[in-house]
Amino acid sequence: MSLAPEILPALIKAVTTTIEQNAEEVTELDQVLGDGDHVTNLQRGVGALNDQIDDIAQLEWPQAIQKIGMTLLSTMGGASGSLFGTLFISMSKAMAGKKEFNQQEFADVFFAGVEAVKKRGKAEAGEKTMLDTLIPVADKMLEGVSMDNICQVAIEGMESTKEMKATKGRASYLEEKSIGHIDAGARTSQLIICAIVEALR
Ligand code: ADP
Ligand code: MG
Repeated sequence: MSLAPEILPALIKAVTTTIEQNAEEVTELDQVLGDGDHVTNLQRGVGALNDQIDDIAQLEWPQAIQKIGMTLLSTMGGASGSLFGTLFISMSKAMAGKKEFNQQEFADVFFAGVEAVKKRGKAEAGEKTMLDTLIPVADKMLEGVSMDNICQVAIEGMESTKEMKATKGRASYLEEKSIGHIDAGARTSQLIICAIVEALR
């Protein structure tokens, strides 16, 4: 990926749009399994990114991604704030000292970020969280699956949460009753991934 961080405003814009367009649906998902604030948390974070995006786009990749992570961490709140913050901050660490990434190098960076989310949330695949979108995407990227197919991988991961029983986060209080509903964080992670892939085309 010989892209420069100047691409970031376009990516943030694409993410902002997809979150707006699907806000109602995601709120309903988080009302069923959680407390209904997931989209509001995300919109607060994305709003803060939009406020700073021109400055962020002037930084090198590691610093830009670090700043995105710190901004999400300090503005979002909720379980997802610390997890999305961790994702980006850990990706930034894995990027250290580099200016450009080919697809394989970017896959390594994303994988490192997802590993950090697993540690931070003490969660694995199959627990009905954002990780059920993020883990298959990280795995397929490492395998070299083309970017064109990554959105579909994210969709399948998101849909797989429907039949899972939640064992992490607020949804875990529902136990068996959590089965039959898609996880809000898995859905927003998928929306974000698909919006970024589409914007990069
Ligand atoms: P909160 O649950 O604190 O209200 P949000 O509503 O913003 O926070 O985010 C909820 C989402 O966070 C869930 O849908 C799930 O995807 C994700 N999540 C919660 N706990 C964990 C965890 N331990 N590991 C990974 N993801 C988690
Ligand atoms: Mg919530």
